[in-house]
Amino acid sequence: MDYFLTSVADVAAELATSPAGLAAATAGQRLAKHGPNQLADSHQKTVWQLVLHQLSDVMILVLLAAAGVSVLIGEAKSAYVILAIVVLNAVVGFVQEFRADKAMEALQKMAASHAQVLRDGHAQQVPTTELVPGDVVLLEAGNVIPADVRFLETHALKVDESSLTGESSNVEKTAAALPAGEYPLGDRLNLGYKGTAVTNGRAVAYVVATGMQTELGKIAVLIQTAEVVTPLQKRLGTLGKRLSVAALAVGALFFGLGCLRGEPWENLLLVAISLAIAALPEALPALVTISLALGAGRLMKSHALMRKLPAVETLGSVTYICTDKTGTLTLNRMTVEELYEVPAVKLAGLGDRNALLTALALNTDASHDPANHWLGDSTEVALARYAEEKAYARPALEAQFPRLAELPFDSERKCMTTLHQTPQGVLVLTKGAAGSLYKQLTDSQQGRLADLTRRVDAQAAQGYRVLAYGAKMLPVLPPDLTPATVETDLTFLGFASLIDPPREEARQAVAACKAAGIIPVMITGDHKLTAKAIAEKLGIISSKDELVLTGPELTALDAPAFAAMVEHVRVYARVDPAQKLRIINALQARHQFVAMTGDGVNDAPALKNADIGIAMGINGTEVAKEAAAMILLDDDFATIVEAVKHGRRIYDNILKFIRYLLAGSVGEITTLFFAPLLGLPVTLLAIHILWINFITDGLPGLALAYEPSEKNSMQRPPVDPRQTIFADGLGWFIMGAGLLVGGLTIAMQAWAIRQGLPHWQTMAFTVLCLSQLGLALAIRSRRESIFSIGLFSNKPMLWAVALTVALHLLIIYVPFGNRLFSTQRLTVSELGITLAVSSVVFWAVELQKLIARRRGAPTVLPLPVPAALPSPTATVPVPA
Ligand code: ADP
Ligand code: MG
Repeated sequence: MDYFLTSVADVAAELATSPAGLAAATAGQRLAKHGPNQLADSHQKTVWQLVLHQLSDVMILVLLAAAGVSVLIGEAKSAYVILAIVVLNAVVGFVQEFRADKAMEALQKMAASHAQVLRDGHAQQVPTTELVPGDVVLLEAGNVIPADVRFLETHALKVDESSLTGESSNVEKTAAALPAGEYPLGDRLNLGYKGTAVTNGRAVAYVVATGMQTELGKIAVLIQTAEVVTPLQKRLGTLGKRLSVAALAVGALFFGLGCLRGEPWENLLLVAISLAIAALPEALPALVTISLALGAGRLMKSHALMRKLPAVETLGSVTYICTDKTGTLTLNRMTVEELYEVPAVKLAGLGDRNALLTALALNTDASHDPANHWLGDSTEVALARYAEEKAYARPALEAQFPRLAELPFDSERKCMTTLHQTPQGVLVLTKGAAGSLYKQLTDSQQGRLADLTRRVDAQAAQGYRVLAYGAKMLPVLPPDLTPATVETDLTFLGFASLIDPPREEARQAVAACKAAGIIPVMITGDHKLTAKAIAEKLGIISSKDELVLTGPELTALDAPAFAAMVEHVRVYARVDPAQKLRIINALQARHQFVAMTGDGVNDAPALKNADIGIAMGINGTEVAKEAAAMILLDDDFATIVEAVKHGRRIYDNILKFIRYLLAGSVGEITTLFFAPLLGLPVTLLAIHILWINFITDGLPGLALAYEPSEKNSMQRPPVDPRQTIFADGLGWFIMGAGLLVGGLTIAMQAWAIRQGLPHWQTMAFTVLCLSQLGLALAIRSRRESIFSIGLFSNKPMLWAVALTVALHLLIIYVPFGNRLFSTQRLTVSELGITLAVSSVVFWAVELQKLIARRRGAPTVLPLPVPAALPSPTATVPVPA
């Protein structure tokens, strides 16, 4: 059925519904029939797919090949062990991936959106997935339309359909049926589509299609996003490829050299394959995903909900946090401190009522329920409540002077107007930013302008938000209600000064930001002086070099001039949301990594373009949330800083297990490769290498993801996301530690052979295994000694190490283990010697850290010195 050609009544009949909505029971039946209102997700993996995924790994195939070779050369025993390792590895991999998937699913559930629906005759919030055809949804500006709908009632409704049609302008929607004809999607003016955004007005609508039946669903196959790969995973992918090539080369070389030396090729082949496996950090990509998912779970507990996984990793790289003021840096607890009334202004029609207080009570959308619980925007509530305390309650006044029409507030105009019927005509009341009203004053009042400006500025400079009121009388309601016709020729009634105290935790968070090399920037629609006063209280501005720029000043600047100063601006006042985009672009052009907050519909482009877009969880619109990478559940600036701290921790930990795994690989390669060159027998059997690679590397590696933050993590500059992972000596460390591990193993082997000890192989095996455990413990911190961070501060690591040691003892002391792994029982003195040799790595790394600390490699790295300032004044002169 073509719902756009049909009258609303016929649409209702067709869908068996009515303007009162469905009964909950009916909705339940329809949900069972039509299925949930969501797009089929090809990424949801079933348990079986996860299992298959584990087995399809290239490495597993290589392992199976190794098992095959073992059987061929009559080493069936090895084949069993290899197969057991394959299964064990698949189980561990499965459990980890399953946990990560579950964590992500829980996050997605948290981020799920809700819709206002009429069910059983009253409005209620329902998860959008539960919408069914025939449901009546209530839509308002800021909503994302949850399904395909046919409007039955619209009020100044405008919809942004660019996500579907690519048209960027807003479409005005109506409820009327269209005359017969052909209409492309964008011209069906009485339909709304799933996934598009309401930018203005409100509407009531019938749901006509849900889930894959919607227009979005029909093209969903086309837009289904590729699996997200984080920048780090990408770099690791490249690294992995290079290492694979290297691994194959090393394996082939080993095999070739062995043949030349006349060793039996079957054994050589097996060891060569194991060598290649040892060289590959196959576990890395999975470990990264798992630690990101775990990290997202931890962030959730700190009230930051991650919508995009890569953001978890890049959070730590943020260099600028551009944040809204109201509600984020401040408590959003507005209180009217004082009123200023322009003397001797009387409005006909109000009798002897006070004009300013009447305006406070009438020009508002705030209201309260019988329990005196106020509802509405905090500014509005403060003003209405103040009026009520002075016996100017809104309901009583509105009964006498009914509201005829209104021009709602928007952050570009920065004011709002209500029109009321009085015995003398139509009363126009406007409130808003004083600056917006100045231009609209009557000629007779223009003379007072200097005095008014002085008074308003004096209040703003103390940090007050000043709201000015203007009024006029019209004989009748004008036919076209636009700001240009209504908000002109006003008489200034006076203004109210509101205080919105800064959040104490925001002040501390600002200091934390600065210590961490991150620059906090305040963006607000408020008066320049108000913004500056609050910024100073919070410490965002603490020196003359830190600039305040207003929206109009920004507009007047050309691109090069703005680029020259953008890194020094700390406060943007009187800006409108469109200018946020310009700020982001200018900062990004200077290679800054920008986090930007937003709440409104028109913040969405900025949120999408920022490196990390952050939407407000409490005061944010759905549109903003959909555009963001992260949702701030408590709207608190301090939470952003906390999230950055988590981000740094996660990044650090990822680097730690890269260190651990790669150093281990280098150690294993060194051992296998150099022992024969030094005239020794091949140190280990293939199964020994596999054991080390999966058990010794895997468990402690995973435990590193649980490592708490480094002590100095918020006292050092952010990591440049373009920097290679081998920066800061990581590559050298891996080589050094790896060579040490390998060298010790070979030395153990050589010494034991010279002493004529028959257990030399088990001794070398044990050294290779245990020295890596020592490494895992020592690299828990990059700088601090393990004794100062506390042996018990990472419990999973202790468990991992204990478990690995226990397993190792099991395979060298239990007869069954001896048979399977061709190991021998070490005597007490042999075990003592291997333990002593193994611990060398641990002490060496601790010594290296001690030297680094002694040498005073500064905990607090010097921050980059800002370039010369464009102008030494605190505020920017407006270019003529
Ligand atoms: P912020 O960035 O602090 O949230 P807004 O965009 O909400 O700023 O507000 C910008 C300016 O618009 C305020 O300084 C105030 O002068 C005016 N304003 C804010 N709320 C209202 C309102 N409800 N009615 C009229 N004017 C308002
Ligand atoms: Mg606001």
